[in-house]
Amino acid sequence: MTAAETREDKKRIRKIIHIDLDAFFCAVEELLDPSLAGKAFAVGGAAGERGVISSCSYPARRFGVHSAMPTGQALRLCPELILVHGHYAEYQKASRKTMEILEDMTPLVEQISIDEAFLDMTDLPESGRVIALYIQSMVKTKVGLPCSLGVASNKLVAKIANNRGKSENRTGSPPCAIKVIPPSEEAAFLAPLPVDELWGIGPKTAAHLNKLGITTIGDLAAQADAWLDTHFGDYGHSLSRHARGIDHREVVNFHDTKSISNEVTFSQDVHDEQELHATLRRLSDKVGSRLREDRFLASTVRIKIRWPDFSTFTRQVTLDEPFDQDSIIFEAALGLFNGIWQKDQPVRLLGVGAGNLQAFAVQMNLWETRSDRERRLLKAVDEIRDRFGKDVIQRGTRLTKKSTPKE
Ligand SMILES: [Mg+2]
Repeated sequence: MTAAETREDKKRIRKIIHIDLDAFFCAVEELLDPSLAGKAFAVGGAAGERGVISSCSYPARRFGVHSAMPTGQALRLCPELILVHGHYAEYQKASRKTMEILEDMTPLVEQISIDEAFLDMTDLPESGRVIALYIQSMVKTKVGLPCSLGVASNKLVAKIANNRGKSENRTGSPPCAIKVIPPSEEAAFLAPLPVDELWGIGPKTAAHLNKLGITTIGDLAAQADAWLDTHFGDYGHSLSRHARGIDHREVVNFHDTKSISNEVTFSQDVHDEQELHATLRRLSDKVGSRLREDRFLASTVRIKIRWPDFSTFTRQVTLDEPFDQDSIIFEAALGLFNGIWQKDQPVRLLGVGAGNLQAFAVQMNLWETRSDRERRLLKAVDEIRDRFGKDVIQRGTRLTKKSTPKE
């Protein structure tokens, strides 16, 4: 482990959750036809059509049936297997409903397949296990589906924890597993597992590693740099980091229509408080402008800070009234910033975002605006920006300066 990695690990212990719906297609089919519950059934092509199984119920799995298996073979293993034609529009609907529950809890939701997502819950004070239990019960009561969750300090370990949790709960019914790996126990958790359970190691790499005598993740973690170089080059070093349970990848919300954000990477690290505040204000103004342009109201303000060693923090706050005003965004962003920045600490990147967006029209009559005057003023400001360019009007500290640095 390098010195930078040690520093980064100490600075920031994240709470990352991987959620996976249990036998998703089959669970939805059971909602559509409750008589399927407890039976060995599968969604997939009929035997005569040389189809394959796309999802099978837990009772079917006890016979050795699994997804991607040819239907004929599945029927030989389990002659009473009931074959169901898939209802894909229903799966999409159930997936969307589940993701909406998650997005209500945090804007940091990264959906990685129809029934899987990563969540960054670092900002919630509750323990990972409590959050996971809460999500599990919400998804069960609101969508009617069982799910399993892995909790760890990073995506890699959370995902593997979830896989392990599920396979440790093989009972013929949905596992509904929750497996938590406490911070600093990542490497110890991974060490005894077969090396092909390391996320990203395909069958080819696994076979190659086995030939070299590496069978567990711990074996891989124990290899020296020179060995990694010889056999895998640069890729070896990232494999080794993963084998030791280190993964700095962020949870990224790809379909980011649910949030609007702006960030700036400084050409030289900035430690001057005034300049940092002015940057926050400028970024807040831009976010506000975008919200109004796209006719959204937001409920959550988020900031992102990157230190010179590239470690990155995000903090967010949800306000009790929807907003689109620059000053509200700035005040919230400044509060978040002051919560983590220490005087003279150099900053490499600053970002401000607004999340939990809703269309402006929906909410317009529902809340008493505390700042109609400000709204009119901002409308005028936006019109001027439209006509003369975005940098013409800057507030506060930037107001008197003639030019501002470009991002
Ligand atoms: Mg699943």
